[in-house]
Amino acid sequence: MKINQNFLTPNKYSRPQIPLKKVTKIAVHYVGNPSSSAAANRNYFENQKNGGHYVSSHFIVGLQGEIIQCIPLDEISYCTNQANSYSVSVECCHPDSTGKFTEAAEQSLAELCAYLLEKFGLDIDDIIRHYDVTGKQCPLYWSPTKYQSAEVANGRFEEFKNKVRKLLKSSAMNGTLNTSSGTNFRVRILDGCLNIRKYPSLNAPVAGTITDKGIYTIVAEEHGGSVLWGRLKSGAGWISLGSRYVQKIREEK
Ligand SMILES: [Zn+2]
Repeated sequence: MKINQNFLTPNKYSRPQIPLKKVTKIAVHYVGNPSSSAAANRNYFENQKNGGHYVSSHFIVGLQGEIIQCIPLDEISYCTNQANSYSVSVECCHPDSTGKFTEAAEQSLAELCAYLLEKFGLDIDDIIRHYDVTGKQCPLYWSPTKYQSAEVANGRFEEFKNKVRKLLKSSAMNGTLNTSSGTNFRVRILDGCLNIRKYPSLNAPVAGTITDKGIYTIVAEEHGGSVLWGRLKSGAGWISLGSRYVQKIREEK
């Protein structure tokens, strides 16, 4: 899974920079615009800065499974109504008016959801549909409509969650869920008592402590608050990469 970060220009309509203090749900959507691309939807959000609608999402998954991140994870998006204050939102593109996702898009969506659940320490049932919040038929293919009963729609959503469940299981065994951001370097721990956080934020629960001043491999970097965080290869969590705490090791190529 590769996440392309292309953050929106801060503006009051689509990126108001209101802090997202605690994430308890991952909200899934369909874009509602058949065959539009992830890039086109990102541009639509960007263009709201000129005055328009209050609309955006943290992520957009495209028809070929590409992923664009529009908003950092410590800011809210305008996507899921009353759930905006506690959820990360994911929009997914679809080829036609049924709203059914392509196989590639659904696979990326599942990987992204698994990654986000792990990152925020959430459970499978913390993935929600826009439908679960407001009753809006979104994602359309997973919502009861005149074309599909509640039983069929809910069954499709459950099937999707099973896919995510499997990814979580395999990641717990071998740590395959790391994003292929290309990040991979080692650090020497300078601090004798360095906290490991469940996700990259000072507000995140402490998942453990490093006391051995050893050498650790970092496989992802992310800004959270004013801190640059590094994800431990072991999957244990995130540590601050501040120069007071760690020293990056220069590798001979
Ligand atoms: Zn929606």
